[in-house]
Amino acid sequence: MDKKMSASEIVRNFDEAIRNDDIYAVYQPQFNHSTGRMMGAEALIRWRHPSYGTQYPSDFIPVLEENDLIIDADLHIFDLVCRFQKNCIDNNLPVIPISVNMSRHDIFNKNYVDEIERIRTRYGIPVKYLRVEITETSAIGGTELVTSVMNKLHEYGYLVEMDDFGCGYSSLNILKDLPVDIIKLDMKFLSGDVGGRGGIIIGSIVQMAKWLNTPVIAEGVETREQADFMKSIGCNYIQGYYYSKPVPEKEFLEMSRQIEHEKMTRALSLIENINAGKFWDPESLETLIFSNFVGGAAIFTYKKGDINILRVNEKYLEEVGMNQSEQDIIHSNIWDTFEDESKAIYEDTIKRAISTGDEERCETWRTFVTDCCGEDKICIRSYMRVIGKAADQYLIYCMVHNITAERKNFAALYDSERRFRFASEQANMYAWEYMIDTKEMRPCFRCMRDLGLPPLVKNYPEPAIEAGIFPSDYADMYRDWHRQLEQGVKELEAIIPLTVSRTPFHVRYTTEFDENGKPFKAYGSATLVVEDD
Ligand code: C2E
Ligand code: CA
Ligand code: CA
Repeated sequence: MDKKMSASEIVRNFDEAIRNDDIYAVYQPQFNHSTGRMMGAEALIRWRHPSYGTQYPSDFIPVLEENDLIIDADLHIFDLVCRFQKNCIDNNLPVIPISVNMSRHDIFNKNYVDEIERIRTRYGIPVKYLRVEITETSAIGGTELVTSVMNKLHEYGYLVEMDDFGCGYSSLNILKDLPVDIIKLDMKFLSGDVGGRGGIIIGSIVQMAKWLNTPVIAEGVETREQADFMKSIGCNYIQGYYYSKPVPEKEFLEMSRQIEHEKMTRALSLIENINAGKFWDPESLETLIFSNFVGGAAIFTYKKGDINILRVNEKYLEEVGMNQSEQDIIHSNIWDTFEDESKAIYEDTIKRAISTGDEERCETWRTFVTDCCGEDKICIRSYMRVIGKAADQYLIYCMVHNITAERKNFAALYDSERRFRFASEQANMYAWEYMIDTKEMRPCFRCMRDLGLPPLVKNYPEPAIEAGIFPSDYADMYRDWHRQLEQGVKELEAIIPLTVSRTPFHVRYTTEFDENGKPFKAYGSATLVVEDD
């Protein structure tokens, strides 16, 4: 076993150890347990003693704190982390945000924050790649000082993590009082099994963090069971031996190159904030929100292909329409409204929501038959998210949007365009479609036959200009038209002399927009100008 340094050895050897980088950082990656991707890491201090071997924080940090050396140690680690990030940036390697620990003693040093900021700017590291961890116990004796330090960190743009949350003396109040960006919740406070009291406490902390829209990282996660439990209560971010021990720099670099990574998000939508169990309580806040503040929504269970609708709100009934009541919907079999193709799409979306833990969406046509309205086909866009699980049964929250009108307009447009293309054969007209995003043009048969165009013309309109279909004195104007289409102009038209014969044609464009109002396709046509006198 490694021998420990004595207090006097620690103090005596400190400066030299810093100079030689014998005091260094190891990195423990953090993962999103839902996706398996890495979303961060924490830097942890180590001391390599030439003859005693590796020394751990508990061996020397208390001595450094007593001797006012901790700030130098922390700044040194911060420097090393910046050096590491700089190397990643310079070599085009993945850059993953790294958290550094700030001792309680650093908080009392009014230069600390300016010092780390000086180091960061010296290396030119974007602030989003560095985070600062402060322990909850730093706030003992009052939150004013910690608040001012956190405000200063925020001014510079650092995210601040509350470390060891839950172990302290008044965790709940602290959350309310301090501007915390991320909470780190240590599994050791779970004391034993996830099923017992600890699980309930952790569950309620995660719940509360969600109401505050503050992401939680679970620390010290050692087993699959713990990780799954955290995920089941809505905390996906995991740090601990289950995924990885803290590793040396080189190994961490290798991991960050090989493992996919993602950004941490605080985008917890309303749904995630809702405690499924409370939906049954008519007095609960969840019921209030469900009934009043969200759009059309339903809650259903899914088990091996079976769907059971448990609740729908008023707005759901309005969206789906057909004069149905909640009881009508609950007592009917939802699958009866789907055709096979839609059913496959819908079920696939449910399965995706189960496997990703994220919101998943789909659009499906459904046929409703009611006493009052007879039969009608409607198109519904659904957003689904799993909010609970028991054995192989999932509780799913589903928001709905009736987009039938939108879809029908689309279909009508498509239909009229098709007819229009047929008509072009008879009407001395050339027609084509222009895909705005890809600059691809699809000509009608007539264009292909008379002008020798292929079925798909890329980088339109250049080939048409080159081929002399659009003469050079009109080329810039015609190019500009395509820029205008991109910017969302609805219609364009002009008389343009086409081909070498310079025959005047009436050239027209009509733009089609997608559901977000973005232009995506334009229908072009050219009709011979007939002199009617
Ligand atoms: P911490 O900030 O709570 O860091 C997490 C500690 O938990 C680390 O211990 C880490 O190795 C350990 N750990 C990680 N995953 C697991 C797990 O699955 N199970 C268990 N049982 N432990 C796990 P470490 O590296 O010994 O650090 C201990 C403490 O020393 C840290 O606790 C932190 O408070 C302090 N520390 C570490 N580095 C620094 C530093 O650079 N500056 C300052 N001021 N304090 C530091
Ligand atoms: Ca920490
Ligand atoms: Ca911790």
